[in-house]
Amino acid sequence: MSTTPQHLQPEHDWSESGFATRAIHAGQDPDAETGAVVTPIYAVSTYKQDGVGGLRGGYEYSRSANPTRTALEEALAAVEGGAHGYAFASGLAAEDTLLRAVLRPGDHIVMPNDAYGGTFRLVARVFGPWGIDHTPVDLSDLDAVVAAIEPGRTKAVWIETPTNPLLGVSDITAIAALCRAAGALLIVDNTFATPYLQQPLALGADVVVHSTTKYIGGHSDVVGGALVVADGAQLPVGLTGPTGTMSLADAVAFHQNASGAIAGPFDAWLTLRGLKTLAVRMDRHCSNAAAVAAFLDGHPKVAQVIYPGLPSHPDHEVAARQMRGFGGMISFRTGDAQSSLDVCAKTRVFTLAESLGGVESLIEHPGKMTHGALVGTALEVPADLIRISVGIEDVADLIADLTQALA
Ligand code: PLP
Repeated sequence: MSTTPQHLQPEHDWSESGFATRAIHAGQDPDAETGAVVTPIYAVSTYKQDGVGGLRGGYEYSRSANPTRTALEEALAAVEGGAHGYAFASGLAAEDTLLRAVLRPGDHIVMPNDAYGGTFRLVARVFGPWGIDHTPVDLSDLDAVVAAIEPGRTKAVWIETPTNPLLGVSDITAIAALCRAAGALLIVDNTFATPYLQQPLALGADVVVHSTTKYIGGHSDVVGGALVVADGAQLPVGLTGPTGTMSLADAVAFHQNASGAIAGPFDAWLTLRGLKTLAVRMDRHCSNAAAVAAFLDGHPKVAQVIYPGLPSHPDHEVAARQMRGFGGMISFRTGDAQSSLDVCAKTRVFTLAESLGGVESLIEHPGKMTHGALVGTALEVPADLIRISVGIEDVADLIADLTQALA
């Protein structure tokens, strides 16, 4: 039996509409009673039943489903082109739920050798002791991916593209074909690209992961995560769900409810509010980042600029094929660890802070900040690496700020 909650019938089918229209309207019909054009914050834990089991719209208890979260989940599914969306308390809560749904002790997962540090920590330090093996590989090297997949034991390949913080790009279509042949799931962390720039499910992925804390929320005011499951996606070959044979979507829904790391109604509302403007923000993030990358690329104190939009990026061609734009994230190196720390300390418009994807520009030193947990592992990042999240301020102010910080 399906564990996916029933939802109210939408007034209109938005599936044929453009991206921005879906982001603004899908799952967000005006309130049936009042006409309120914005989905209300349903700050409620439980729902009156019309006789025992007489649920209105499928709502019973807010861990299982809440109307504000439903609106976000439907909107996320619509913008990713998936069948079902699930909203969580953080990106890592979404990842944790997904990995519990698709892996069992003795299984193996292939992951990027420059994955987000928190993903690596979760897989290696939390799932490792529960009997899950992982192999970090350079996912831009398809031969290395083939070599890492252990047929029968590898239940999933985890792609992050572009990666955090080295902006590695992997070919989703090519890896999807390898996964299909091996009976493994393809999971894509689409946090950096966003559904506006990249549509992994259309390229063959089974499930998309997001830290909605980043571009989808977009205003650095909420922590959240999401999973979007492709239409018809199944569990890895040979795996039975917690209550018997079930689809991947139903297994995720079961685990979301069973573990309970859901997005609360206010967080869901903030995330939904951010999602509505994702398309216009991403256009500006992309154009500002392209100008900043070109500036850094010609700067005498910059040793290397890593940006998928630059022809010097080793996978620029793949990025150009599978992304609508190259995003707002840039990493660069000065050649000297102390010089990089000095640059991070000197910017004024770029705020020194972790996280990314908000309207304001941020700068950070991954080796000492976001990716400090990786020191001493195969995923350790260079000590002179600087990561910037290029915001949507006036680009001249961003370039002037970097000019003075590098002087
Ligand atoms: N995935 C990527 C690519 C990230 O950058 C992050 C956080 O920085 C996460 C997942 C984890 O998300 P959260 O911090 O919302 O738990």
